[in-house]
Amino acid sequence: MDRRSLIKNAGIAGVLAAGVAPAVHAQAAVRWRLSSSFPKALDTIFGAADVFAAKVKAMSGGKFEISTHAGGEITPPFGVVDAVQQGSIECAHTAPYYFFGKNEAFALGCAIPFGLNSRQMTAWMYQGNGLTLMREFYAKYSMTSFPMGNTGAQMGGWYRKEIKSIKDIKGLKMRIGGFAGKVFEPMGGVPQNIPGGEIYTALEKGTIDAAEWVGPYDDQKLGFNKVAPFYYYPGWWEGGPQLDLLINQKAFDALSAENKAIVESAAAYAHTDMQAKYDARNPAALKQLVGAGTKLRPFPNDVMAEAFKVSQQLYSELSAKNPEWAKIYADYAKFRADSNLWFRFTEARFDSFMQAQKL
Ligand code: CA
Repeated sequence: MDRRSLIKNAGIAGVLAAGVAPAVHAQAAVRWRLSSSFPKALDTIFGAADVFAAKVKAMSGGKFEISTHAGGEITPPFGVVDAVQQGSIECAHTAPYYFFGKNEAFALGCAIPFGLNSRQMTAWMYQGNGLTLMREFYAKYSMTSFPMGNTGAQMGGWYRKEIKSIKDIKGLKMRIGGFAGKVFEPMGGVPQNIPGGEIYTALEKGTIDAAEWVGPYDDQKLGFNKVAPFYYYPGWWEGGPQLDLLINQKAFDALSAENKAIVESAAAYAHTDMQAKYDARNPAALKQLVGAGTKLRPFPNDVMAEAFKVSQQLYSELSAKNPEWAKIYADYAKFRADSNLWFRFTEARFDSFMQAQKL
């Protein structure tokens, strides 16, 4: 694939060098394939890949085309990192924490329990050391990365029975995303890895007791409210999960400087657009869910406190045994401390005042 792009680029260069005008009709000179880890029905998450591809095509005047594929279409949803690393596809759109089994450091490019919120994650990436550190890590997998979407803080999921205290977590079989299982399990829970499309049936049959996906807009589409009445918040394991565009390094290096800039700009646009979609669509979905009988509940304090304690222990252990985690997490944790010190004076106070007013 990569070689074909190279040959095509060389062909165009040859035409230009010979002083012959290239054909003006929009025959793409560069064609890439993007595999998402998500189904097409999720127009917010999967949609970011389409938004990105459309921008790339428009900015390049049709000379750079990227076809987008749902998880499973050309690559298994959780096989996208291998595919990008091997160069069988040029790029993927995914939640990097799915790959914590390869190395826990993948989670730091996405979300860890009690991690950065969406604004903080974007700040760490673009203006802190986040992007530099994650790219240094992804280089081991022959990939580079661009932030491409964030859901904002997620909900804590759907429960068939009420969670009154930490005791109710013991033995609870729950579909919980990626890396969060490493905190949920020491709390007594039983994390289950189930792809998005199979969660509904498992919850309906009672194979699992609880399941989390994202938030009101996506969860309503998947119909979880029909099979579990209690909807808990917040999703403390995903305060601001970031999606990434992962690109095979050789494929990226083969692009012209112009196309590299196009990829960077289109990804940044899609990054902002996804968060905007969630922020604009979640409020109405939550109203509809509550109107249809969903019971909203905050997690009990002892659940939050235990989860926080367990997560800090986990991060200490990982820092002692995983040098990549240790290096990235040290910077991440410093940024998180400073950022929360600042946000408590501004966003937190402003938001809490506004939310208490009759608007
Ligand atoms: Ca989730």
